[in-house]
Amino acid sequence: MTRDSRIHDVAVVGGGVAGAATVIALAREGVTPIWIAPGHSDRAEVFGESLAPSARTVMASLGLGDVLKDPRHRASNATFSAWGSDFLVERNAAVHLEGPGLVLDREAFDSSMAYAAQQVSERRTVVLTSAAWRDGTWSLGLHGGASVKSRFVVDATGRSVSIGRRMVRVVTHDRMVAAVTRVPQRSTDVEATRATLIEAMADGWLYAALLADGRMSLAYFSDPDLLPHGIRHDVDCWRALVAGSRHVSRWLDDAGFDIVEPPSIVAAGTRWLERPAGANGEDEPPWAAVGDAAAAMDPLSSHGLTTSLWSGARVGAAASSWLGGDRAPLDRYSLAVEAGIRQYVADQVRVYGQERRYCGRPFWSRRAISPGGLLARTRP
Ligand SMILES: Cc1cc2nc3c(=O)[nH]c(=O)nc-3n(C[C@H](O)[C@H](O)[C@H](O)COP(=O)(O)OP(=O)(O)OC[C@H]3O[C@@H](n4cnc5c(N)ncnc54)[C@H](O)[C@@H]3O)c2cc1C
Repeated sequence: MTRDSRIHDVAVVGGGVAGAATVIALAREGVTPIWIAPGHSDRAEVFGESLAPSARTVMASLGLGDVLKDPRHRASNATFSAWGSDFLVERNAAVHLEGPGLVLDREAFDSSMAYAAQQVSERRTVVLTSAAWRDGTWSLGLHGGASVKSRFVVDATGRSVSIGRRMVRVVTHDRMVAAVTRVPQRSTDVEATRATLIEAMADGWLYAALLADGRMSLAYFSDPDLLPHGIRHDVDCWRALVAGSRHVSRWLDDAGFDIVEPPSIVAAGTRWLERPAGANGEDEPPWAAVGDAAAAMDPLSSHGLTTSLWSGARVGAAASSWLGGDRAPLDRYSLAVEAGIRQYVADQVRVYGQERRYCGRPFWSRRAISPGGLLARTRP
């Protein structure tokens, strides 16, 4: 057990994309943070590989543009959706000024981010077990008994929101879950279309994306009470659900993909912190949340990764300003996140409202709330 008696300027807690982006942004401001980021073995498998075109700009601002040139990622030029209609509509991303989005190899992407962050930080590959503010300093307890001290702390712990939930209320907007799996191709005789497909169904929606390694990423989003009983353990139940789709099932069959195991069930609901940062002098310890810890969004938006990168970049710069005595950038970050959440909620209601075929079904009627009503419901 070691007690590090130094007081670090900033501690970043969480080893995902948001934590790594924060560390890199801090380093670009000349701050070397302590990074509390457990190793890969402590982390559940990560899902979600669609990277929005706007992420390219943030990656470039972090000096990480080359990470996206890795051939393990592929350009995402063709996205089709059957949403509000039985027919597939193509949404061509090639028209984006930033260039096309990407279908990432998440393992490779997260490793590249972690490697870059590790070069510019002091990393502890352990889990945070406690956080307390005493005598003007954060005291952070680590698994195994060690502890570290810092002046500012960044919560990048994803949906567990380990520090933010001690500071402010977590607003839970919905409890959506995802059944996720990666599906191998039975034979490579048929070249599968390099595409992403989204299909609305009666009790949720399906997402399928061909990965650069040839497997299909398959996810079904629904509410916990609407998932078919036994789906967690019964591969036939999972196959039957996918077979009930009109387009995804045909794509899988035609290209020879076999569902061979039941899915993992992971949280995919929307929830956010009432306030994503604070530093009210003596009254409130200085802290900020980034990525999913600040606001975890419905993956339909495909903006979780981009928001994680953006928030890490903003908080890295804002924490550095705070160390220099200027808290205005931190306040501006809070306002930007809050405005983003309001916009996101309005967009979500509009997009779910476009699906009228299943408007009597619980999954869809739960989401058919006017933006005003929804915000009123979620305000304290
Ligand atoms: C099914 C699904 C599909 C998705 N698809 C997409 C998509 O296609 N495109 C997209 O842009 N987004 C997608 N998302 C969202 C995206 O994956 C997330 O927004 C993004 O990964 C969040 O990154 P993060 O770093 O904030 O959190 P995480 O990736 O969850 O990282 C949090 C880290 O904190 C660590 N941690 C937790 N507790 C502690 C602790 N006490 N001490 C130390 N470390 C701790 C964890 O080990 C982990 O390393 C999807 C999400 C889901 C659930």
